[in-house]
Amino acid sequence: MPGLDAAAWVRTFATLIDEHAEELTALDAAVGDADHGTNMRRGMAAAVAALDDCAADSPADICKQTAMVLIRTIGGASGPLYGTFFLRFAGVIEKGSDTADFARAFRAGLDGVIARGKAELGDKTMVDALAPAADALDRSVTAAASGAQALDAAVVAAESGRDATTPLVARKGRASYLGERSAGHQDPGATSAALLVRAARESWR
Ligand code: ADP
Ligand code: MG
Repeated sequence: MPGLDAAAWVRTFATLIDEHAEELTALDAAVGDADHGTNMRRGMAAAVAALDDCAADSPADICKQTAMVLIRTIGGASGPLYGTFFLRFAGVIEKGSDTADFARAFRAGLDGVIARGKAELGDKTMVDALAPAADALDRSVTAAASGAQALDAAVVAAESGRDATTPLVARKGRASYLGERSAGHQDPGATSAALLVRAARESWR
C-alpha cells in the first residue's frame, strides 16, 4: 500500500532545512532573533543522527524519537512546537500510513501545535502553513484523491499559507513584540513548516 516513508520524511526535512537555513535565519532576523535556521538545522541534524543510531522503525517510533530530539536540542519556541507536532502525529499514525491516516495524524499534529502555542490562523506563525495543509489533506481524503494528489495539494496550500503571512501583524511568539512593524515580513516558522509538507510529498512512496 502506498504511504509515507517516515524515515525519509525526517531525512528529507533535514536536507531541506539545511538548504534553507540561511534563508530561515534571515527571515527571523527581520522579525525575531535570527536563530530559526540554526535552531532547525541543529534539531534536524540531531534527529537524523538519532535515526542513524537507533532501531526505531515504525512510523510512530520514528516520529516519536524525532519529537524527543527536537524538544531536547532546539532552545527556541520552534523546538517544543515541532516536537509536539511529531509527538501527536506519532500518536495517531501507528502502523497505517495511507492518505487518510496521514491526514488524521497531520491534523493531530496541528492540534498539538495549537494547544501548545495558542496561535490561531492569521497570527503569523507556523499554524498559517500547517492549517491550510491539514484542510487540503482532509478535502483530498473526502474526494478520494490519490496520496500523491493529496500531498501535492497540501504543498500548494502550505506554501500559499506561508506567503500569506507576509502582510500579517504577528500576534504570537517573538515577532509579536514588534507589533505593526512585523508586517511586511514572511514568517520564519511558516516557511519551515511549508518545507515539512514538501518533505512529506517527497517521501510518499
Ligand atoms: P524563537 O522565537 O524562540 O527564537 P524560532 O526562531 O526557532 O524560536 O522560531 C520562531 C517561529 O516559531 C516563528 O516564526 C513562528 O512561526 C513560530 N512560533 C512562535 N511562537 C509560536 C506560537 N505560540 N504558536 C505557533 N508558532 C509559534
Ligand atoms: Mg528565533
